[in-house]
Amino acid sequence: MFALLSGLASLTFPVDCLACGELTPDGRAFCEACRRLIEPRKGPRCPRCDTGVQSDGAPCWRCRDAPPAFERAFGVYDYLGPVGDALRGGKYHGRPEALPALGALLRTTLPEALRLDPPSAVVPVPLHPARLRRRPLDVPRYLATSVARGLGARLAPRALTRIRDTRPQAGLCEADRWVNVAGAFSPAARGVPADALLVDDVATTGATLRAAAQALAGAGAQRIRVLTLAVSDRTP
Ligand SMILES: [Zn+2]
Ligand SMILES: [Zn+2]
Repeated sequence: MFALLSGLASLTFPVDCLACGELTPDGRAFCEACRRLIEPRKGPRCPRCDTGVQSDGAPCWRCRDAPPAFERAFGVYDYLGPVGDALRGGKYHGRPEALPALGALLRTTLPEALRLDPPSAVVPVPLHPARLRRRPLDVPRYLATSVARGLGARLAPRALTRIRDTRPQAGLCEADRWVNVAGAFSPAARGVPADALLVDDVATTGATLRAAAQALAGAGAQRIRVLTLAVSDRTP
């Protein structure tokens, strides 16, 4: 019996790689070729918002013109890679099993600065209730739950509410993105965490995260940092 059980434990079932769709004979979420490509982003970035390329160590023009309410943003993976492919599969192409895999990936590759100095609470960037009814998949909350567990921090899913059902940012030009999310968030009447980590799946211009951070700061949050699974450096 014992031999049978240990034999079963070593069985693996091939699954389709979450990024490229090829079979992974070892049953892991990503095939070997894609796993080799999964590396946290490197290279010179704006030290404040972590988007765009910035070679001189100074803040980018967006952060100079209008400093965000958050202290620092961390974008862990490049959207143009296996992580972005898996994220799109999970959100749009019927592969919800991507979400636990991406949550686990993010939890095991959290930036050191957050692990050494964790926030008191993790706040997912909220979706509007109407959008959740249309497509009941709350990716930011899923990721935030995993991050909170990884950091030993409290999850504060009601610290912010989305009060406007904004159009998806994808496909909008930069100017429209800022207009689209302005005033989209409302803080909770009570219980906004003093030291918050905002979590979202993708940052492009950072407009959504800036608007969410602004709402938290306006309600008394003393320190706000931002974490996104992926960053899209593409200009829309
Ligand atoms: Zn693959
Ligand atoms: Zn910046």
